Amino acid sequence: MTEKSDFVLVVNCGSSSLKFALWDPDQPDPCLSGLAENLGSKDAGLRFDCGGARTRADIAGADHAKAFAGLVAFLEGRGLLARIGAVGHRVVHGGERFTASVEVTADVLDDIESCGALAPLHNPANLMGIRAAREALPKARHVVVFDTAFHQTIPPAAYLYALPQRYRRDLGVRRYGFHGTSHRFVSMRAVDILDLDPADHGLVVVHLGNGASATAVRDGRSVDTSMGLTPTEGLIMGTRCGDVDVGAILHIARAEGLGLDAIDALVNRESGLLGLSELSNDCRTLEKASAAGHAGAREALEVFAHRVARTVGALAISLPRLDAVVFTGGIGENSASVRAAVISKLGLLGLELDEAVNRNLNGAAGLVSRSIVPAALVVPTDEERMIAIDTASIVMGRASTAYGCIEGSAR
Ligand code: ADP
Repeated sequence: MTEKSDFVLVVNCGSSSLKFALWDPDQPDPCLSGLAENLGSKDAGLRFDCGGARTRADIAGADHAKAFAGLVAFLEGRGLLARIGAVGHRVVHGGERFTASVEVTADVLDDIESCGALAPLHNPANLMGIRAAREALPKARHVVVFDTAFHQTIPPAAYLYALPQRYRRDLGVRRYGFHGTSHRFVSMRAVDILDLDPADHGLVVVHLGNGASATAVRDGRSVDTSMGLTPTEGLIMGTRCGDVDVGAILHIARAEGLGLDAIDALVNRESGLLGLSELSNDCRTLEKASAAGHAGAREALEVFAHRVARTVGALAISLPRLDAVVFTGGIGENSASVRAAVISKLGLLGLELDEAVNRNLNGAAGLVSRSIVPAALVVPTDEERMIAIDTASIVMGRASTAYGCIEGSAR
């Protein structure tokens, strides 16, 4: 009897990296995961985590295609290659063309390419990964899942910039939002955990990692979000400034004679927690330094929390009612002190922190407020699981409850 080809490979390609995870639909967690990094350089390497064992392969000088060849060889050696029926790919920008995940066709690839001007660092790398994967796994069906798609339900009042309309028409300049796969997964889990009506709820999901964004979710749909045309807008991030007066940037650029590349570096790589603290972009490092008396670290964390709380307040006006503020991402899931600082600023919205429960919640899902409506909830994100779920439901018609998932063991 031949085995079924119902495994899903999830792929996330950056310009020099390739992350992957292999999902068996009958298991709650991936059976294999791994990473190829430093692609295109002599330090390129490939790592596999399989059943608790870690294997490394040296692939010096490899590009994405060679990294896929290494992955295929590994899968073949373990009898897993023939089990793969579908591959789910993360793509950063789907512009206005993509409102949901779709199966890859030649037209879809052309459209992703044409959205590339909106995400010049990400979409070309994502495309490179899709092309390499289709060559390496020609029998599998391929699906793309977009970071922007969940936000395509945002109304014009929330997505338009007050710039001349011709920039919207000619260049697609508007707010798109990102982290959509995470916001979608986390909001579905929150509805499930809090036993809310899927057709009648209001949430603000706060994804706080190196990148950070917040989204108002009404009845399962994104209705406003903090990131914009690019991920630079909104909350303070590891190295991105988030919202800032454009006039301040013009002032700095004139004073220091900065060109466009220098401004890009300033707002995306030198600012945020790193720029404010003059120490680090990493929340854990800043929390330790702040506890040891580092004034810059303390100030950076205070500004970070204030911006999150202010943004939650602003997003709440798009909801009929605030059922919960949901924390996720590396900081949202793990930093009790950032959560406490944010929640204690949201008393006006009816939130009341449960200090002891918040302090003792270690990376798990759970309520951290005394208030029930609105609740403050922590939900670990799992973008790969969401990509696997979408891919399986598009290609194999499996219900979205497959893959350990929303209603099952991920609880
Ligand atoms: P990315 O956006 O790159 O996926 P993550 O979601 O992994 O980032 O989040 C990374 C951030 O989470 C870092 O600032 C890191 O310091 C922070 N973080 C992770 N664990 C903890 C912890 N236990 N306490 C405080 N911050 C943490």
